[in-house]
Amino acid sequence: MKVNGEFRDLSTEPGPGENFEEVPAGAPEALDVYRHSCSHLLAQAVCQLFPGTQYGIGPAVENGFYYDFLTSRPFTPEDLAAISSRMREIASQDLPIERLEWKRGEALDYFRSLGQELKVELIGEKTSEDTISVYRQGDFVDLCRGPHLPSTGHLRHFALTSVAAAYWKGDENNHSLQRIYGVVFPGAAELAAHLDFLNEAQARDHRKLGRDLDLFSQADDIGAGLVLWHPKGAMIRHEIEKFWKEEHLKNGYELLYTPHLAGLDLWKTSGHLDYYRENMFPAMEYEHSAFQLKPMNCPFHIVIYKSKTRSYRDLPLRWAELGTVYRYERSGVLHGLLRVRGFTQDDAHIFCTPEQLEQEVCELIRFSTSLLGAFGFNELNVCLATRPDRFVGSEADWDNAIAALAQALKISKVEYRVDQGEGVFYGPKIDIKIKDVLQRWWQLTTIQVDFNLPRRFDLRYSDSAGGQSHPFMVHRALLGSLERFFGILIEHYGGAFPPWLAPVQAIVIPVSENHLEYAGQVQRKLVEAGIRTQLETRSEGLAKKIRSAETQKIPYLLVIGDREMQAGNVSLRIHKLGDRGSVNLAELIAVINRNREEKKLNYEI
Ligand code: ZN
Repeated sequence: MKVNGEFRDLSTEPGPGENFEEVPAGAPEALDVYRHSCSHLLAQAVCQLFPGTQYGIGPAVENGFYYDFLTSRPFTPEDLAAISSRMREIASQDLPIERLEWKRGEALDYFRSLGQELKVELIGEKTSEDTISVYRQGDFVDLCRGPHLPSTGHLRHFALTSVAAAYWKGDENNHSLQRIYGVVFPGAAELAAHLDFLNEAQARDHRKLGRDLDLFSQADDIGAGLVLWHPKGAMIRHEIEKFWKEEHLKNGYELLYTPHLAGLDLWKTSGHLDYYRENMFPAMEYEHSAFQLKPMNCPFHIVIYKSKTRSYRDLPLRWAELGTVYRYERSGVLHGLLRVRGFTQDDAHIFCTPEQLEQEVCELIRFSTSLLGAFGFNELNVCLATRPDRFVGSEADWDNAIAALAQALKISKVEYRVDQGEGVFYGPKIDIKIKDVLQRWWQLTTIQVDFNLPRRFDLRYSDSAGGQSHPFMVHRALLGSLERFFGILIEHYGGAFPPWLAPVQAIVIPVSENHLEYAGQVQRKLVEAGIRTQLETRSEGLAKKIRSAETQKIPYLLVIGDREMQAGNVSLRIHKLGDRGSVNLAELIAVINRNREEKKLNYEI
């Protein structure tokens, strides 16, 4: 329940004049109470099964809960199963969950006597508190603010999902703990739906599919956070880059290439050495100079801008680069392709007059939505971030730029939210998130106005009045980075890429050795027509060959037997859609090519 708007235990007696309201079990805000109570249940079960274990902290988190334990050995999947069934036993005992107020010394003595040094440390930090609230259920006591469910019997629909190592207080100099994650819901149906989601997400995990489909790899001896693109992944990237470049040329961009490193002076002028250093790799020295791997492409584009005098007649300039940058990320936060240390941004910078900003942003919104739409991302979540407390540039410039961004969104008929004060210190921005097939949001596009770099580099153009003005500069990435975008695409498509992206678009499968030669001729015809086609040459049974092509998620399977050889046809199977019977080869080639050219998202012919 809530007393005067604050969450309290149901056992709380409201004082005179206090308002209380009931919070029903199904209310979204009640979920955190379930989660937190379930984390206590988890810790109780672990302490019973593994005496001597120290329990650290166990909060409710975005998707469930976890608890950190200091153990003598890592937990195994069998341990999780045993812990889970012990949790069910304790829940079925329906132990009351009681709140107690202990004196500091009393709490210290209690946890010290149990050898719970992590708890002793936590109490030691609560120096300002004389009394400390703890919660007790049966033989288990935990430090806690609460509130909790009235008894363990309310915890029925839970599951432990995984275990991972985590440092005490997130500090790598501290103990490495075992963190057990779990989920809990008030109802069985919600738990089942969530577990389905987790299974689906696991089946689509880009690291797993990247291995199974031979798309990419990462290796510790290469370096954490660096990506090796295997031939099939590289083919997909090639198609994305080709499409990206063509679309940029159609949209009035010019392409740039810039180096992977530059002398320190550039990074001094740009301010990166002073303000971005913790995200950069250390400089390397040779020939009495120091060079820095680039964390961003912007300074290079600015130097190109400054390579000659610019007039208002030259603007806007739209310069795009698939620029590979390197940023230092702590090893603990690296995650497959989604968080890496070396990546290629689909970067661009627009230099324009203040008057041109609105039009340019309109174009950018249209460009972004059409590009994302081509990959099947049509549901957008857009926000406009405005001036933070600390900022550079004049207030008038900020106001004008924010008005231009807002007007561009309005003209584009895009619904958006304003994130007041959430802009970067150098300018306002528009961020666009997309929703994937698992209903998860990913931020891809960012459009950022910059009042900082044009000033630091003293960028100018001669304006129409004959004077000198600073151009507006816009940084933008539409896909984010190719690595992260690829990771998202793998999961969104579950590895079954649309025909234009599929690394192998068709496979010709002879029924037996007798059909191999004719199958080879069919394969050559497809290859000559520009379709990436494999020939199955292994002497396996037909069913096995088809199954293998299906696991590779190849869109079109062309089966050749006696009848097909005589009629000059192929027997077509489509991935996931099944048998389509006999089709004329020339017609099939034309349809597959049309699907490719139109960038159709499904395999239907
Ligand atoms: Zn930039």
